[in-house]
Amino acid sequence: MAEVSITSLVKRYGDALAVDDLTLTAADGQFVSLLGPSGCGKSTTLKCIAGFEEITSGTIAFDGRDISGDLPEDRDIGMVFQSYALFPHMTVRGNLAFGLEMRRVGRAEMARRVDAALEMVQLVPYADRYPSELSGGQQQRVALVRALVIEPKILLLDEPLANLDAKLRDEMRTFIRDLQQRVGITTVYVTHDQSEAMTMSDRVVVMFAGRIAQAAPRARSTTVR
Ligand code: ADP
Ligand code: ADP
Repeated sequence: MAEVSITSLVKRYGDALAVDDLTLTAADGQFVSLLGPSGCGKSTTLKCIAGFEEITSGTIAFDGRDISGDLPEDRDIGMVFQSYALFPHMTVRGNLAFGLEMRRVGRAEMARRVDAALEMVQLVPYADRYPSELSGGQQQRVALVRALVIEPKILLLDEPLANLDAKLRDEMRTFIRDLQQRVGITTVYVTHDQSEAMTMSDRVVVMFAGRIAQAAPRARSTTVR
């Protein structure tokens, strides 16, 4: 668990300014949504936090430590993409074990964590299936626990519900929020769907053209950025 603190983040692609002086903090255990229209810089912000994109200027800190120069694998983040990005040639168990193998987690501990992850999303009977044999919602749940099984400090979610039908999307909202609260993990959630952001988040940060348009505390929350 950690606090994520972004200060004066700028990200340019050539002449294009994707993120323009963004300052934002997600407190320990908080669920913060970045809401805004397509092209406003939400994904880019997430990729900068993850370290998939080099930042142009500014700082990104986890628990006060500047991690702007760290490689993605050293940042302790779990990420879920709109496309899920599951490994198609690996079973569900294989997908969940992969990140643990990379981190040289021992066999017994790996089995324990993978089993716990499967239980967490009620997918125990699907452990030996391939992603293509699962429904969209099930794949999404695998992607979610695959991000969590490495026990990251921060969870980054990029439009994870966009590919689901309306009914499933509503179910998954609750599911993701419950899971996030159970695990207590600091989460940055990207969406263009206002009602999604409003119902799921502790705090909604509205972006427009690379900048923060407005930061609204949810309900009776007293947190103001
Ligand atoms: P959002 O996630 O809000 O839809 P993005 O962060 O994907 O927005 O994009 C922000 C802006 O940066 C857009 O104008 C987009 O075209 C541009 N952009 C994003 N990625 C790249 C890239 N790899 N190269 C050039 N421009 C990019
Ligand atoms: P998302 O917003 O979910 O990242 P996009 O369809 O906007 O999805 O982008 C898909 C990929 O293309 C991303 O890796 C993004 O960085 C890149 N991209 C987005 N806009 C541009 C652009 N104008 N030029 C080059 N690459 C881009």
